[in-house]
Amino acid sequence: MKRKTFLKTLALLPLTAAAMKLKELNKISETFSNTTKMPVLFLGHGSPMNAIEENEFVQGFRNIAKDIPKPNAILCISAHWETKGTLVTAMENPRTIHDFGGFPKELFEVQYPAAGSPDLAKETQSLISTAEVGLDDKWGLDHGAWSVIKHLYPEADVPVIQMSLDYRQSPQYHYELAQQINSLRHKGVLIIGSGNIVHNLRMVDWQRLDETYGFDWAIEANEQMKKFILDGNHQQLINFRAQGKAFDLAIPTAEHYLPLLYTLALQEKSDDLKLFNDKAVAGSLTMTSLKIG
Ligand code: ZN
Repeated sequence: MKRKTFLKTLALLPLTAAAMKLKELNKISETFSNTTKMPVLFLGHGSPMNAIEENEFVQGFRNIAKDIPKPNAILCISAHWETKGTLVTAMENPRTIHDFGGFPKELFEVQYPAAGSPDLAKETQSLISTAEVGLDDKWGLDHGAWSVIKHLYPEADVPVIQMSLDYRQSPQYHYELAQQINSLRHKGVLIIGSGNIVHNLRMVDWQRLDETYGFDWAIEANEQMKKFILDGNHQQLINFRAQGKAFDLAIPTAEHYLPLLYTLALQEKSDDLKLFNDKAVAGSLTMTSLKIG
């Protein structure tokens, strides 16, 4: 149909029919965006100060955003939201949570006013069959999410939801849970795991907090993890408790490591892998980040 004839036809239709016709057109553009496969990110977030500092890691986050089509929405699995059972944030307007202490006032004043997406929350809930996923209206965006996403999308113009970590569950369980949301990648949703693959706060060298160096065990664990990632050897990464002393020191508790497993579970055969921000800081943390696809 020629454009002119088409517009004429629209004009002749009663209002509701015309509205429906336009709705159909919108559907076509939605279908188009559905065909673009979004990458998946694991972001090493490190200190909350990265939210307001200018450094090479922040630059790394900005650069990676330039490599990615603008998403319809973001689903973030943050190390800083552990719950009994799995929850997804389902409010229209998530608050910015300042879940830390002892930092400058400037950091507490940061607001990241991205919208939520109740629709994406419900869709995520419906995709997961092995667990009863709850819709949450109390959480919001913790610093694991906003301190990094703000560098990717400083205008806060992409809706963000979070999915929690069920602290009672095994690494294998988390990996299999994440596999079930793969179809979101095909609907323009950017899935981000936010944590740190090497993260031992007890051993942080507080005198050298801003320095990029790692203890021997931190470097060893980081190198071995990268090898497993690049070899596609996910099972060894899931069995991180069987990898020896360097891994035990790197992962004293699992919450900063598990978001990596969520990210890897979404990897498809045709995906490229790109490591970035691959440096240790303050001895016992690594900022190593990953783009899949
Ligand atoms: Zn953290």
